[in-house]
Amino acid sequence: MLKIEALEFSYPSVPASTMHFDLTVDVGEVLSLIGPSGSGKSTLLSLIAGFLPASGGRILVDDEPLHNLPVAERPVSIVFQQHNLFPHLDLYTNVALGIEPSLRLAPIQVEAVRGALARLGLEPMQRRKPGELSGGQRQRVALARALVRQRKILLLDEAFAALGPALRAELIELVKTLVAEHDMCALLVSHQPSDASIASARSAFICEGRVAAIAATAQLLAQSEPPQLRDYLGSG
Ligand code: ADP
Ligand code: MG
Repeated sequence: MLKIEALEFSYPSVPASTMHFDLTVDVGEVLSLIGPSGSGKSTLLSLIAGFLPASGGRILVDDEPLHNLPVAERPVSIVFQQHNLFPHLDLYTNVALGIEPSLRLAPIQVEAVRGALARLGLEPMQRRKPGELSGGQRQRVALARALVRQRKILLLDEAFAALGPALRAELIELVKTLVAEHDMCALLVSHQPSDASIASARSAFICEGRVAAIAATAQLLAQSEPPQLRDYLGSG
């Protein structure tokens, strides 16, 4: 289980606006984060990944603290909207880099790369380069790369935002399956409330650097409190 307790952060350039997060994600759960642009969703993911240093609070995974670990040692994989694949390397190599930057793979790691490519339906195109793929296929590669890392926490920051609704839904379903199969804890940031409905039994509304509401997704999307949630959803 991922537990975020009283996690505090403020950007040095805006010291007056301290963010403060409390949240838990169960094993096998994809928790969606929705909320207005600038509310702190990406900042929260960066704090978990260790790209930004929290000034207080704790992050625990299965009761082990990780907030003091360097980025590389955190059990975290993150997928962004921009896939961050190397354009000059083929898919197999891009995925292999997820486990071993030196690319000197042990046989078991080669198997893991093959397995992830097969699981995501990418095996037939493994020698293609990212430029020879569709946007949806590229995000599948980014997922495969996250998967081979076998880290407990999966963070998706508007990972599928550039894709159309049908493809987004397909990839979200895939994420749900993978997270359940691998006992991961996932946080999915999307600016589409409909994505939260597909992805998550529970969702959180992030507003002004806080978890302003957290509930069953259908309930949250129908809720009239806080008022910022109504403003964000554009109804009521
Ligand atoms: P979201 O992902 O929800 O759109 P962010 O986490 O990116 O929001 O940003 C939260 C707030 O922090 C916003 O007010 C944004 O302007 C501010 N912010 C983001 N990055 C920086 C930065 N590097 N320096 C100062 N302020 C930042
Ligand atoms: Mg963001």
